[in-house]
Amino acid sequence: MRIFTAALATETNTFSPICIDRRAFEASLYAPPGKHPETPTLCTAPITVGRRVTAQKGWKLIEGTAAWADPAGLVNRQTYEDLRDEILGQLRAALPVDAVVLGLHGAMVADGCEDTEGDLLQRVREIVGPDVLVCAELDPHSHLTARRAAAADFFVFFKEFPHTDFVERAEDLWRIAIDKLEGRVEPVMSIFDCRMIDVFPTSREPMRSFVDKLIQIERDDADVLSLSVVHGFMAGDVAEMGTKMLVVTNGKAEKGEALARELGLELFSRRGTYRMPEIDERQAVAQALAAPAGPVVIADMWDNPGGGTAGDATVVLEELIAQDATDTAIGTIWDPMAVQICMAAGEGAEIPLRFGAKSAPGTGRPIDGIVKVVKLVRNAEMRFGESFAPFGDAVHIRVHGIDIILNTTRAQSFDPSLFSVMGIDPTSKKILVIKSTNHFFASFSRIASEILYCSAGTPYPNDPARTPYRRARRDIWPMVTDPHGFETTA
Ligand SMILES: [Zn+2]
Repeated sequence: MRIFTAALATETNTFSPICIDRRAFEASLYAPPGKHPETPTLCTAPITVGRRVTAQKGWKLIEGTAAWADPAGLVNRQTYEDLRDEILGQLRAALPVDAVVLGLHGAMVADGCEDTEGDLLQRVREIVGPDVLVCAELDPHSHLTARRAAAADFFVFFKEFPHTDFVERAEDLWRIAIDKLEGRVEPVMSIFDCRMIDVFPTSREPMRSFVDKLIQIERDDADVLSLSVVHGFMAGDVAEMGTKMLVVTNGKAEKGEALARELGLELFSRRGTYRMPEIDERQAVAQALAAPAGPVVIADMWDNPGGGTAGDATVVLEELIAQDATDTAIGTIWDPMAVQICMAAGEGAEIPLRFGAKSAPGTGRPIDGIVKVVKLVRNAEMRFGESFAPFGDAVHIRVHGIDIILNTTRAQSFDPSLFSVMGIDPTSKKILVIKSTNHFFASFSRIASEILYCSAGTPYPNDPARTPYRRARRDIWPMVTDPHGFETTA
């Protein structure tokens, strides 16, 4: 067997002011054929798992390019087309192949191309013809369009959010692909449109039990090859935005349809109950100040660079100043220009500085003050599980009695080491403000006396009922209350 593999992925928040070009891919991951490292990033596990399983089979794996850019805004059109055509050219050169196994995200939007994954998959299908297996692993924060479903044999999405299972799901993908290539199964996709959009953290109920139930069905029912909840991505203003239930059966389309509908409606029935309880900045700061002990972690959850925002909002900081909070540290506020000024001033300097809230409306106002430059670190990094996440040249400043980290490379706050590398002992502070929606939880919960999920300003389109969509459909919950027409037909 000869199998072609490649990866092309990013998550596009179409409301983000941070556009993506080739340099952004090169800064995150750009690996030409054979150059992909041994460990995968989020969307490239089909390549690393593929190396292992094809070696066991004695099959030939032909690697194309792997490219991943951290979540941000619109992808430059030329950048997308160049990367796409690079991979398609590698596929043509690899022919004949028995299968194409891809790592995608599913929410990439390029200037002039709303459904990049559909575009890529359709072109792959045209090159290999109708009989070659085409499959992909994707992130559930994606748009399952009709075009991409028509072009591929089957998809497997991550089940967990935070996405801790991307390697296991790549193993599912390859297992089904091998079974198909050896004639044991005939994968068929059945898709149910849940007619909703929501946020589904699997670290809490009710989504935890729902995902456990899917895993149990996959174990118990021999007809079911894979089950995926496609969460949808509310920050992507595209026509087919929304939550879908995907069932892959072994040739049992009718059974798949019924199961997708049953599970999809169960998911729909709990709409509005999945998200973490959120409070506004006034309540968050008051609650943190009133806490008997620290550190209280305030997650500025929607100004999350991991969701494509700039990460420079000052709404929580303004509230801290208004409520006279001290003994507080903020990590981070993205402001390359302010960092440059502080670097020029040097450690120990006291300078007038304006910083923050320059990227987009709804992120507060720039902060002015006489700041003390406490510590400068070039190429700063925080821990992230077993590895490190860079946050660029960074400066620790003190103003209004608050310690603030300004940085140059947008990164969500994964780990408390973010503070220690900048000379701040996170456990000694009463209040820690961080920018992350949910990924921070595993590490910060170990040191926090309390965690507050704070929805401050409007850096991110997190309220679909009120988001000014121009392309997304409006016939789904919560834009309408009864999208399935149950109340009118009952
Ligand atoms: Zn995701």
